[in-house]
Amino acid sequence: MSYSLYQVRALDAADPLASFRPLFRLPEGVIYLDGNSLGPTPASVHARLADTIDREWGQGLIRSWNGADWMGAPARIGAKIAPLIGAAAHEVTVADSTSVNLFKLLSAGLAMRPDRRVILTETGNFPTDLYMAGGLAVLAPDVTVRAVARERLLEHLDGDVAVLMLTHVHYKTGARHDMPALTAAAHAQGALALWDLSHSTGAIRIDLAGANADLAVGCGYKFLNGGPGAPAFLYVAERLQAQARSPLTGWMGHAAPFAFSDDYAAAPGVTRFLCGTPPVLGLAALEEGVNIAASAPMDAIEAKSAALWAVFDTQMRTRCAGLGFARLGPENPAERGSHISFTHPEGYRISEALRDRGVIGDFRDPDVLRFGLTPLYLGYEDVWRGAEIIREIMDGEHWRRYAPPVPGAAT
Ligand SMILES: *Cc1c(COP(=O)(O)O)cnc(C)c1O
Repeated sequence: MSYSLYQVRALDAADPLASFRPLFRLPEGVIYLDGNSLGPTPASVHARLADTIDREWGQGLIRSWNGADWMGAPARIGAKIAPLIGAAAHEVTVADSTSVNLFKLLSAGLAMRPDRRVILTETGNFPTDLYMAGGLAVLAPDVTVRAVARERLLEHLDGDVAVLMLTHVHYKTGARHDMPALTAAAHAQGALALWDLSHSTGAIRIDLAGANADLAVGCGYKFLNGGPGAPAFLYVAERLQAQARSPLTGWMGHAAPFAFSDDYAAAPGVTRFLCGTPPVLGLAALEEGVNIAASAPMDAIEAKSAALWAVFDTQMRTRCAGLGFARLGPENPAERGSHISFTHPEGYRISEALRDRGVIGDFRDPDVLRFGLTPLYLGYEDVWRGAEIIREIMDGEHWRRYAPPVPGAAT
């Protein structure tokens, strides 16, 4: 049975997260189903950036490194992200991009397991994760990247594996790995577990401490709404911090950057994984997004994510039945993240037609339509309307007006 407009409006009226929607600015007439790729602007971000530029930078000038606590921003924002991922405040910092953080932590992990030279990961992992591991293996030719199908990870997790590197929620299918079980399996073989939380942070409950995870990275511009190219975060479990070494020994990871010593001495704790000067404007924008996520009750986020998914899935199964869509990924909320994907042979052209109708999802090669279901600013009526517009586009064959994908363009 499909949902009626009356039913989804009743769900919106009873939504305990409805008060979060005004904290974001979304364009009129847009149903934004791509917050898992680039979160929208927090309403507060303009004022925050204006203040950072005019007062802190403009008036304070170089005094603001201390006066406005620019120096403290990576640790301060890391501490705000920590509760979202089940970490302690001093285990998280904000730096660089997710790609660079992967490189740093993979290298640190390999150095902590000097008698093992294999990075185990899954085929079809997010491309940058595979590419960064591959690049590290070029620099350290004794290192091998062993990429296997996700169903076969356990049989390939042996005594040669130094680091098991996995993405918690798969970017295409939305399938979620069992973090506690896989981390325990890695530990049973003497390996470290490195989790990429890009598609889960801010969307679902994460408990790095409960899973006994070793290392983690994640993205600032998806469900954390930190802005395009926002700085990323990284986590090193306290028990590893004394041994873990960053391969990118920049001065901001030095114990005393302003002593200007010729010799490198790693800063204590996770701070040693900073490299260069913190990107203050990007950090200011990120902090506004993180402040919202940190103030939202995770129980309500999880419940609404599951409920939005159920509405969208139901509408696709009923209203869009027989139109060529096949859902990817599991149905059980505990086994997935907060996006829903469908394959369709004309996926790219449908996604273009949808964008022109104000329904913004995205397309992932070769045939995947992906829709982010973000509880903080999407309502039930939004996802309901999204599915109705998909049906209209299919009924009217509007997608036929759009050209097939141009190789190399961003989707
Ligand atoms: C988005 C995403 C990234 C992004 O990495 P960047 O360095 O910010 O480009 C990395 N890994 C995963 C799994 C992602 O979803």
